[in-house]
Amino acid sequence: MAREDEVDRIREQAQELLAAQRATVRSLLRLRAQLGGSLVMRYAECGKEGCACRSGERHGPYFILSTRSGGRGGLSYLPHSQVSRARTLVEHHREFQEGFRRLKQINEGLLALLRQYRSAAARQGERSLEAVAR
Ligand SMILES: [Zn+2]
Repeated sequence: MAREDEVDRIREQAQELLAAQRATVRSLLRLRAQLGGSLVMRYAECGKEGCACRSGERHGPYFILSTRSGGRGGLSYLPHSQVSRARTLVEHHREFQEGFRRLKQINEGLLALLRQYRSAAARQGERSLEAVAR
């Protein structure tokens, strides 16, 4: 009986992981648009002599988007009107990476459980044959 309990316990845990897997995949698929990179804010001094920036009132802020998507990476200045959108896209990419890692852990957990299940089910199979033989 203890062995059947073990099989049931593993089945329950597998169901929980499947639910977590499904939820994670769903949340990944919600992140439709994303951008791998980072957004930095900079203030700068110009070359003009006597400009206020020389005494601390630097120009800016400038928003610089640094992307690192295969081969097309680089730096670009963003108009202020696009900063909020860019922030969202960068955040989506970060969330995606995080969800991807979570999914990998869940999948590894599922494989480990299925290995346990295989052993427990095999023991149960052996027991059932012994019972027939008796
Ligand atoms: Zn200046």
